[in-house]
Amino acid sequence: MTCCHACGETARPIADIAFRDFDGSLFSRSGVIRHCRACGLGVVDTGLSDAEIARHYADDCIYAEMTGVGVGGNTPEDLFRYERYDEFLAPDLGEIIGRAGLVDVGCSRGGMLRHLRTRHPRLPLLGVDLDETSLRTLREAGVSAKGGSALDLPLADASQSMLSYLHVFEHILDTDAVLKEASRVLADDGLLFVEVPDAPDYGAGEARVGTMFWLAMKEHVYHFTEASLAAILARNGFAVQRAMRSHMPMRAGKAYPSLMVIARKTQSPIALDPAGAPHDALPDHIGAETRAFDEQAEAVRAFAGRHERLAFWGISLEFLNLWARLGAELTQRQPVRLFDRNRGKHDLTVDGLPIRPAAPPQGSEGLVVCAYMAGDPIAAEAERLGWPSEDILVLA
Ligand SMILES: [Zn+2]
Repeated sequence: MTCCHACGETARPIADIAFRDFDGSLFSRSGVIRHCRACGLGVVDTGLSDAEIARHYADDCIYAEMTGVGVGGNTPEDLFRYERYDEFLAPDLGEIIGRAGLVDVGCSRGGMLRHLRTRHPRLPLLGVDLDETSLRTLREAGVSAKGGSALDLPLADASQSMLSYLHVFEHILDTDAVLKEASRVLADDGLLFVEVPDAPDYGAGEARVGTMFWLAMKEHVYHFTEASLAAILARNGFAVQRAMRSHMPMRAGKAYPSLMVIARKTQSPIALDPAGAPHDALPDHIGAETRAFDEQAEAVRAFAGRHERLAFWGISLEFLNLWARLGAELTQRQPVRLFDRNRGKHDLTVDGLPIRPAAPPQGSEGLVVCAYMAGDPIAAEAERLGWPSEDILVLA
């Protein structure tokens, strides 16, 4: 029996989980997902510590070289997201413009900061991140940036008016330590702006990106609901002022489910909403995705059985999730090649298999396209490289 990290009620194991990552990564491990029905929090327990996870972001993380949506860049989808942040923050901007402004903790390449700078030239802005490459990018764009961790901010006591944590809380086990540090640097009435993935909507419409997508994110240690996030904030002296659940666009008509809250530091007691109906969305989603994953694995097995060799294009979470289950079985049966266009991955291996730029087929070779949001364009490119369409399987 385990107590819920957010609300203290009982958290029960609801699913086993296995992650496979590039060789040498600390994320190649298995564990269990625990869930609390009272507040809805899901916890992925693989035995990793925050110190190990922080080393990954400082040393191994390849966000800074990535070009996809959601890594702080300037795609149309990213710009839509920054606009929505701006709208959500609007009621508080007057208050913080005359004060210390906004510090974005875990800013990555600082897309939001660069956007806010163009919209609000008088708003003081600072980015903090562990990744020096990202900070350099931000400074080159003219926004102040400091190296530092959410657990050890490079800021003086009571010096700040607002801190933002966009997609930070789902990555750090000890959220109490993060909030204690936030409380230290914030003024007595300082504000927090937090965004996390909205777990109850993982399977909703365009937010269902593909089989097991949200559950296969090896770096996510929490799956939040609004109630569980509010409970964690309240326990640390932050009262939620307002919340917004929405879907933020990604590529190929897909979206990510977003939960945003503004919370204010307070010395007063914080009343949480009384417990309502049990939170069953996450266990229901995991059940549905487990069935879909069984079907995906069966389809790949059957496809592999029709080919003497096999190649995978797109060495990302879709591939790694499948590989955790089928990798050993497939490499025993036939030669396997791995393709990805991201040069940052060409020095990496998975089970000793090198990752290379895509190449034409060799004999009776099947190609599995592992990219839910880029499956069709990759399949079209594969056909141009000489892969017959009947030898291409696109995962969904
Ligand atoms: Zn709970």
